[in-house]
Amino acid sequence: MSADTLRIAAWYARTRLLRFRDRAALERYQRRRVAKHLRFLARRSPWYARLLPRPFAELPLMDKRTMMADFDDLVTVDVDRDEALALAIEAERTRRFDATLGGCSIGLSSGTSGHRGMFLTSATERAQWAGTMLAKTLPHLRGQRIALFLRAGGDLYDTVGSRAVRFEYFDTFEPVEQHLARLEGLSPTVLVGPPSVLRGIADEVSAGRLRIAPEKVYSVAEVLTPLDEARLREGLGVGVIHQIYQCTEGFLGCTCEHGTLHLNEDVVLVEREHLDERRFVPIVTDFMRRTQPIVRYRMGDVLLLRDDPCPCGSVFTALERIEGREDDVLHLASGEGGVVSVYPDLVARAVVYADGVEEYRVVQASPRLLRIHLEPLSPHVVESVTTELAALLEAQGAEGVTFDFQPYLHDPTRKLRRVERL
Ligand SMILES: [Zn+2]
Repeated sequence: MSADTLRIAAWYARTRLLRFRDRAALERYQRRRVAKHLRFLARRSPWYARLLPRPFAELPLMDKRTMMADFDDLVTVDVDRDEALALAIEAERTRRFDATLGGCSIGLSSGTSGHRGMFLTSATERAQWAGTMLAKTLPHLRGQRIALFLRAGGDLYDTVGSRAVRFEYFDTFEPVEQHLARLEGLSPTVLVGPPSVLRGIADEVSAGRLRIAPEKVYSVAEVLTPLDEARLREGLGVGVIHQIYQCTEGFLGCTCEHGTLHLNEDVVLVEREHLDERRFVPIVTDFMRRTQPIVRYRMGDVLLLRDDPCPCGSVFTALERIEGREDDVLHLASGEGGVVSVYPDLVARAVVYADGVEEYRVVQASPRLLRIHLEPLSPHVVESVTTELAALLEAQGAEGVTFDFQPYLHDPTRKLRRVERL
């Protein structure tokens, strides 16, 4: 066993054994871990050394922009931001993701809007991440064959291979058809990928061109919309489409056996900036990550709390769903010259009721114009989508919004956002 494998195994075991009697026990644990983490940062991060000691709740909120601005001072290793950024962009351009700097791997967050974030992780942190991920997603390891369809960054996952578990990485930059033979040869027990890619795989299975029967399917990297979820369950023959809520900022949540998304509160502390009673923007403190502190980091996502407790009995916060990115909440004209917010997930739910939609994107071009990309773009489908969206917008108080229908274009090189505000 390599040192990496041992470290991963240790974290796997640790995650499995860590149990909390109740919510109060979890919160005590989190307070202890956060306090310990802050003591470390006071010694090792120049930025936090200037601020600490002070109460946790008084520490400034961070986001992608502030993180990048004070990068060199924040991190606890001697790495230069511009040098690291140049290396990361080069790695992405050449699609070789084994670049390291000072022993750290460099990850870029998908910067669809404005700034891109950069995240450094040490070998220990990557092993922690892998061990935690495996412990939370796989009930048992032996004999698992895992197919990972990812847009970028094979290297993080390469560390995880061993005799008990087999991982194969498929680059989603290549069309699905190119992967069919290897995928069928692997015969995966677990299939992991963005929903837009999984849709392509499910279509191949339905068409009889691919024979696989995964026991578990994980949707990652993109919001899983109801239309995709239904198609995937049917096409891949599974009862639940599992989700991993993971980004360069951390491993934030995953589904239990009931398909409920729970926050990983044994690894991160999540404060809530409430938008209404059930919706909130998460503010994340990762008390395991030391190289690049993620402390009171405001994510750009909107999460919806579950109304009733999950039957699994977990003490971790249960979510109804991820509503989408805060940037993609539609801001539409309302009657009195005002603006109403319409959550991306509501739009996705309205489209499910429309008849015959295979693929779609809804893009807000202005407060009065939604551009709707549809497949198929037939009069019947257009009419059906128009009816559903008009009903939604009326219920939400939007007025005078027009729809511009266009053909749907597949672009496997981009992360799919079904609902987007420009
Ligand atoms: Zn649960």
